[in-house]
Amino acid sequence: MPPDDLLLHCCHNPECPQHGRRGAGNLTVCGHYGKNHHRLLDCKACKARFSEFKGTPYFNAKLPHDKVLGVLDHLDDGCGTRQTARLVGVGKDTVTRLALLAGRHAKATHDEVVAFPPSDPRGPVR
Ligand SMILES: [Zn+2]
Repeated sequence: MPPDDLLLHCCHNPECPQHGRRGAGNLTVCGHYGKNHHRLLDCKACKARFSEFKGTPYFNAKLPHDKVLGVLDHLDDGCGTRQTARLVGVGKDTVTRLALLAGRHAKATHDEVVAFPPSDPRGPVR
């Protein structure tokens, strides 16, 4: 059984029949990378491999993940930017940036498509 949180991920290969579908059971963890041992996901449907953080607010964030989670938790609870920054111990700019990323992510979740094409004027989420 894959870990439950794999259900939150989906394949990022636009050519893939499972592209953008979460919880389709097509993803497996095929390895780890980086000093934090981030997982590398493998799509059984198309054999594509990508980082578990691609298309999520975690990806490329320079913060420790528990801080990212803390920020998102507080925002979810309805805390304002300033309050969240103070409670988690990060800068207001960081909270704003993560909120934007998370908003993007939330919208993408709604649309069931995470990866933005490079032609998207908002820029790709890397
Ligand atoms: Zn795929």
